[in-house]
Amino acid sequence: MKYANEIFFFVVALIAWGLLYGSRFILTLGKASQAEKLWLTALTLTASSFTIFAAASTLSLSLLTLANTFFIASFIYFGLFCRSLNGPVTKNVHFIVVAGLLVFAAVFEYLRQNGLFIHRVGLISLIGASCFVWELKELRRLKGIQSTQLRFLVYTIAIELVLTIARLVALYIDGGLNTPNLYQEGVISSSIRWAWLGITILSHVAVLGYWLEKISLEKTQAIQESSRISALLKEKERLIYGLLKANKTAATGALSASIAHELNQPLGASNLNIQFLKMKLEKGILNPELGKEILDSLEADNQRAASIVKSLRSIFAEGESSTEKVRMGDLISNVLDIVTPELKSKNIQIQLRADDRLAIKVNPAEIEQVILNLLNNAIQSLANSGTLLRRITIEATQSGRLARLSISDNGGGVSAEFRPQLFELLSTTKQSGMGLGLWLCKHIVTRYGGSIHYEDALGGGATFVFELPSAS
Ligand code: ADP
Repeated sequence: MKYANEIFFFVVALIAWGLLYGSRFILTLGKASQAEKLWLTALTLTASSFTIFAAASTLSLSLLTLANTFFIASFIYFGLFCRSLNGPVTKNVHFIVVAGLLVFAAVFEYLRQNGLFIHRVGLISLIGASCFVWELKELRRLKGIQSTQLRFLVYTIAIELVLTIARLVALYIDGGLNTPNLYQEGVISSSIRWAWLGITILSHVAVLGYWLEKISLEKTQAIQESSRISALLKEKERLIYGLLKANKTAATGALSASIAHELNQPLGASNLNIQFLKMKLEKGILNPELGKEILDSLEADNQRAASIVKSLRSIFAEGESSTEKVRMGDLISNVLDIVTPELKSKNIQIQLRADDRLAIKVNPAEIEQVILNLLNNAIQSLANSGTLLRRITIEATQSGRLARLSISDNGGGVSAEFRPQLFELLSTTKQSGMGLGLWLCKHIVTRYGGSIHYEDALGGGATFVFELPSAS
């Protein structure tokens, strides 16, 4: 068939261009690696050389020098691609390659005009075979890359090597000395050349498969990574929950003595009243007014004890994670119920200004814990300072769409050096401190889309302000 070679070249050129088109995702995925660029160059050269081979017999046989130069260049760049899998290729290599190719083109052109076809095939086969041996050596050196596609590539290159030599031998046996050019090559050597070029395409397919294999591996790793991250996030939540509990325990520890004292008062008074009542009843001398008076007093003591227990339960209750609309004033008074004995024993005055309508949508126990932490810190700061007129001011106001609560004391305040790490985990200036309180306050408040910050109080001392979306 007259144009069999041209048609063959045209078909393999089409396949090579198709492969190149299908590989453009490499360039659009992000920054292409050196190996990817070198392989794309090799594939472009392969596609270009096959295209010129297909057209040269019709346009001009002198184009064969260009086609063969591109052909050889494609092997060299394929070799550089294999080399780059083992480590980076220096930029100077490109200059050396281009210079070498110019020399090759000159020699080839000389042979085209003055030499025999078999000499030119000999030259191509020699360079081609050297490239294949080099590529195989580079692929064998590969460590740490487990790829079925690269293993397949070793086979295709080995076959290319065998076919290159086989074609030269076949050409020599099959009247090579009288063959003018590749379009008139004998059937056997032509068939071997076709098989060889077909395998060249397979080598490129193997590399494309390698990139796809790599992407899917990276994707699997990314999926594993993201599930590891979500496990870590869950772990973080568990840890924070643990810290919340630890902080509650610490806060209870600090206050337990005074809470016990506060509970003992109504309970002790009740006990006395009951003894008194019993005595009067036994003697049968209880008049109705006195009886009512004693019962009223018992009821008041009972209510006082119940209110302390209720406040404690609301703050230290477990597992309440649902939110509800609550009045800020109620949260403050729940906490004050707990700290009042402490305030009394340390001679601290409380000034409270709370907007009655101010409401927020939160889990009350959490915000009560924030208020308790801030009050506790203020109490400790006042206890450690030499201030005689100890005062804590609590202000709850509406500020635009936010509910704003500030707790100020006239204690020692926070030093400028310590301020940057004030809300950081485990940062404390107290000997027995844990550095948990303010970090947790910030964690809780930000979870509700709010914020917390420190200001110097007017006239000295500390002011902590937190703001939450208002539900008033
Ligand atoms: P801890 O109370 O265990 O130290 P916190 O996180 O509650 O942990 O507080 C961190 C630090 O912030 C305290 O050690 C203290 O130095 C400082 N601090 C907090 N509140 C006040 C305050 N009202 N006045 C002065 N310093 C404060």
